[in-house]
Amino acid sequence: MFKRIVTLFGLSLLLVAGSIAVAERVSFAQTPTRTAATPTPLPLAKPKKETIPAKFLFSAKQLPSLGKAMAIGYYPRGCLQGGVALPTTGPTWQVMRLTRNRNWGHPELIKFLERFAPLAAKATGWKGIMVGDLAQPRGGPLPFGHMSHQIGLDVDIWFMPMPDHVLSKEEREKISATNLVSDDWKHLNPKTWTPQHVAFIKTAAEQPEVERVLVNAVIKKELCRVEGKKHESWMAKVRPWYYHHDHIHVRLKCPADSPNCRHQPPVPGDDGCSDKELAFWFTDKALHPQKPTTPTTPTISKPPKGLTMADLPPACKNVLAAPARQANQASGD
Ligand SMILES: [Zn+2]
Repeated sequence: MFKRIVTLFGLSLLLVAGSIAVAERVSFAQTPTRTAATPTPLPLAKPKKETIPAKFLFSAKQLPSLGKAMAIGYYPRGCLQGGVALPTTGPTWQVMRLTRNRNWGHPELIKFLERFAPLAAKATGWKGIMVGDLAQPRGGPLPFGHMSHQIGLDVDIWFMPMPDHVLSKEEREKISATNLVSDDWKHLNPKTWTPQHVAFIKTAAEQPEVERVLVNAVIKKELCRVEGKKHESWMAKVRPWYYHHDHIHVRLKCPADSPNCRHQPPVPGDDGCSDKELAFWFTDKALHPQKPTTPTTPTISKPPKGLTMADLPPACKNVLAAPARQANQASGD
């Protein structure tokens, strides 16, 4: 999956590079004819901003926008104003894959992680947690890796205890998260699964600002087996989703300061442990999803159009155009 995304990203880059190359050839070809009597108009117009996939516009921004912090739009279709960074190393957390520059979020997400990391460490006996992607500095669609993570309220946290030393930048690129699921996607991997993982997931789902926690169905099934009968409300927040065999995906509720944040329909009231609900995830259809799985999933033969600015809430144009907040400036208005 990841490889496919990387390939497609590579293809998109090739396309972009291709059009740049064409544009360069055009201007080069015109240089010698400068003395010609009538200048010919450039055959290639600069692509309109509206047609450029928004993922390229947002991923090009290295810093957050100035302005009051606000999650704008929907988790897979929006952006983030006034994002703040999670420090890459904390007492009980370390952020991985720093080159991606995705340690940005709404202040509520940063606050959550700073509060959750020591709680998770205590519940599991781990030194701390390993944090994967949050959002880009201004949120928005990402060129690879996720459909959501666009409004600064989603975070991936690895199924792995934080090591007892501060990881180097290189280690943070190279180390991979632990896979808890067997190769047939139907069982836990007994070599990697530990009871601490139950405590880790439970602690995340218990936090009041957490809207849901996504995990692989095999893991959800095990949680149901060991904890489900207690019917605690946190169990309902843990939902099965494709992959998520090496990390949890934590999604926060829309914060009160973000009127343009669209709430996700609430999780069904039950604990999600019934045979009926779990059975789907073990069918052929779920275990081997058809590709493309969604209309926006790219295919090799026809590169995706991708979300453009027109697909995002209008306020995201302002977020993209806003001046950058420098690292030493506080978030706020
Ligand atoms: Zn995620």
